[in-house]
Amino acid sequence: MKCVICKNGDTKNGFTTITLEKNGATLVFKNVPALVCDNCGEKYLEDSVSKELLFKAKGILESGVEVDIRDYQKVA
Ligand SMILES: [Zn+2]
Repeated sequence: MKCVICKNGDTKNGFTTITLEKNGATLVFKNVPALVCDNCGEKYLEDSVSKELLFKAKGILESGVEVDIRDYQKVA
């Protein structure tokens, strides 16, 4: 798709790192599938990915961590 930020680039399949902060806890997910603009580098998550990301985050945060770095591909 066309990038809505720079309006010049096209997005390509790639991976990104997403940081979530919730209730004082910080969670970092590496290797999150994303669409990345080949011009400005803006990243877009598909709805299904962002939903799954929040679902995975909820499970990890419920275990009581304060800071954690996870590989998105390896979180069940
Ligand atoms: Zn762009």
